[in-house]
Amino acid sequence: MQNNQHVDYDAIVVGAGFAGITLIHYLREAGLSLKVFDRATDIGGTWAWNKYPGAATDSEGYYYCLTFSEEVLQEWTWSRRYPGWKETQNYLRFVADKFDMWRDIQFDTEIKSAEYQDNGTWLVTTGSGETYTCRYFISGMGMISEPQIPNLKGMDTFKGPLFHSSRWPEELEYEGKRIGIIGAGATTVQMLPELAKVAADVTVFQRTPNFVMPAMQKPMTPEWEKEIKENYDEIIAKCRNHVFGMAFNPPSGRTIADSTPEEIRQVFEENWHGSFRWVFETFDDLLASPEANQAAADFIIEKMIKAKVDDPELADLLTPKGYPLFAKRPPLDHGYYETFNRDNVHLVDIKDREPIETITETGVRTSEHEYEFDIIVLATGFNAYTGALEAMDIVGATGETLRDKWQDQSSSIMGVAVSGYPNFFMVTGPQAPFANLPTSIDQNAQYIANCIKQMKREGKEVFYPSQQAEDEWTAHTAEIHEQTLMAEGDKVNSWMMGANREDRKPRVLIYFGGANVYYDKLKESADNGFPELEFAEHAA
Ligand code: NAP
Repeated sequence: MQNNQHVDYDAIVVGAGFAGITLIHYLREAGLSLKVFDRATDIGGTWAWNKYPGAATDSEGYYYCLTFSEEVLQEWTWSRRYPGWKETQNYLRFVADKFDMWRDIQFDTEIKSAEYQDNGTWLVTTGSGETYTCRYFISGMGMISEPQIPNLKGMDTFKGPLFHSSRWPEELEYEGKRIGIIGAGATTVQMLPELAKVAADVTVFQRTPNFVMPAMQKPMTPEWEKEIKENYDEIIAKCRNHVFGMAFNPPSGRTIADSTPEEIRQVFEENWHGSFRWVFETFDDLLASPEANQAAADFIIEKMIKAKVDDPELADLLTPKGYPLFAKRPPLDHGYYETFNRDNVHLVDIKDREPIETITETGVRTSEHEYEFDIIVLATGFNAYTGALEAMDIVGATGETLRDKWQDQSSSIMGVAVSGYPNFFMVTGPQAPFANLPTSIDQNAQYIANCIKQMKREGKEVFYPSQQAEDEWTAHTAEIHEQTLMAEGDKVNSWMMGANREDRKPRVLIYFGGANVYYDKLKESADNGFPELEFAEHAA
């Protein structure tokens, strides 16, 4: 690097999950020295933290993977359609071994602050007070990593283990125990069937029911694996060209509006093979037209809830009402609804029937009952997109933290850069799309590495993200958001709008113009020399 100032590393990255691993690859390729810090004790990011029983990917493993190495794509074998957390973590270990990445990672190290310095570098401070300098400070902390801890009375009085779902203690013995779960989102949908098999009793405290779609888990077979490995170029291209970065087929050209009830039923049935692909491969208007969305919602409710839950009153309680499919991110089902037919599983409606009053020494007291538990799990979600970035002090050129800057609006340039924060990049920051994450991560990491390569070529030490570019991207993202059914997410506390947070107003957090369109925009920016960033030879 052509640095005037000495720095410890050209780049410091926070987070050793998919983003950190991908960045190691591309930043090394760009010739940078780097260090990845992670407060976890092992590699994996999401998959180092979310170790609750049943934790698995909701994207199919064969495209929820790193694509920068053809060798890895050919050498690694997934055991099943949706790998569990351990398998995904082992996969990342395999990649780190293969490319000798461990030497660039330091675990057990929390970053407390990162402060931009007048000379164009960053000063990064760890929880134990060590400091490091770097030219580029990069967040690979993940979109859904900072736990949302509810503000429930009496939480510190409970005598047994009480923890957030993403902090599940691996050594916890839960067989034969009475377990209370607060929350009924994607995590609970995965966790409940596994817990119910061995626990004495499991009680779910539900505020808002979800649309839960079928996963239809299945083992990888040699034939399927062969087909996948022979077609990886096509699979990667599909991800790159899909609105949610998934290896799904292009739009079908069909719409609900132009189909008869018989055609609609037939297409819905024929495509009912599990995964989110059903939403994207049946009709093209499901996420755009309220009527089409309602047709899909009715079908899901019929197939998933009415057909599986024996007790009609319970089925009604589990039925989402008053909001469209995808206003909340739908979880995938691994036996969730059938589990409610078991005698040892209970559902408590804490929205309309019996709100939680307090956590007690022995369990949970609602307005109607006292429930006794040995373990309480807070499956209450995450401060998505901005939470991890706000949890530490990231201080920009004006002395303002990102936390303060984003009080009312979480603005950015394409989710990768923020005006006022020179030489700072984010992987999948706010106003990036919500998509199959490895696809977006790869695109973001390439953008970052290409930008730095250009700076090296041209002898520039600093980039200043433009305020105008940020205003334009923010306005564009908001305009698109308003045209989608996802804008109704604020009615139902959707994390996709930050509407699940008690400390923040809902806001536009996601670019819904299509991940494929977004990737095109990143490429266009890179091809044009990154016009959203102003470059300087030295810090001003
Ligand atoms: P979530 O979907 O946000 O669900 C949180 C649940 O907690 C909701 O039912 C929410 O109720 C409830 N809740 C929050 N605060 C509460 C309070 N104070 N009192 C009572 N209930 C409260 O969180 P999640 O299940 O952890 O999933 C979050 C996201 O992580 C998913 O959408 C997904 O993107 C990702 N995830 C992915 C996977 C996977 O891919 N395999 C697995 C798990 C999670 P309301 O709905 O009423 O707010």
